Amino acid sequence: MQNEYEIKKEMCEIGRRVYDRGMVAANDGNFSVKLNDNEFLCTPTGVSKGFMTPEYICKVDAEGNVLQANKGFRPSSEIKMHMRVYKERPDVNSVVHAHPLYATTFAIAGIPLTQPIMPEAVIALGCVPIAKYGTPSTYEIPDAVSEHLQYFDAVLLENHGALAYSDSLLAAYHKMESLEFYAQLLWQTMQIGGPQELNKEQVEKLYEIRRQMGLKGKHPANLCPNAKAGKPSCHSCGGSCSSAAPTADAELIASITKKVMEQLGK
Ligand SMILES: [Zn+2]
Repeated sequence: MQNEYEIKKEMCEIGRRVYDRGMVAANDGNFSVKLNDNEFLCTPTGVSKGFMTPEYICKVDAEGNVLQANKGFRPSSEIKMHMRVYKERPDVNSVVHAHPLYATTFAIAGIPLTQPIMPEAVIALGCVPIAKYGTPSTYEIPDAVSEHLQYFDAVLLENHGALAYSDSLLAAYHKMESLEFYAQLLWQTMQIGGPQELNKEQVEKLYEIRRQMGLKGKHPANLCPNAKAGKPSCHSCGGSCSSAAPTADAELIASITKKVMEQLGK
């Protein structure tokens, strides 16, 4: 098991990767690691995450209050968002927030990533919803993110960036990489006529693979509100995963309306 200093070193390494891959500009982005129920390491505000050393890393409690920080460093103001994830997802040990170019482009355009275009993205992420816009450093962002936490391990933040979380720092970072690659592929194919989507059957086979692999975390293969209601989920649910509200009722109403309309001969 890693000791605290080793975790801080790993956080610096992940910071370098996030910065080198252009997932953040200037001093943007932040990430955190859970040590135990009341101690969390987090990156400081106002520094480039590409050039951190272990002394930069701060420690906070479950409310985000500073437990330890070296002179000149204080936790990110977005720490509230991280704390909400840990509170509502006890299986999560690390949260990564960044502004990757393509994922953020979709977040700004208000387009969730719901098109099934490649097996890896379908298995790793399912589709990626958008948490509605919130003012940075307020509780608006945690509240918006909270709506998606039980269904997904990665979300876009409207007009802002992206958030990924998992059972380890490396896994959370990899989720962010996969999310950005998915967004980039989608963007690229949109330039040449749009992607060919995988069909429902192909998606369902991939979901089955994920279930058999027993992958950890939340994924619409298991937890899409529609899947829970025994209906087609995620990629085949018409993008309802972009909305926080469970869609079972909406679908029921739609199908009843359709039947009534049919009976009326229209
Ligand atoms: Zn941000």
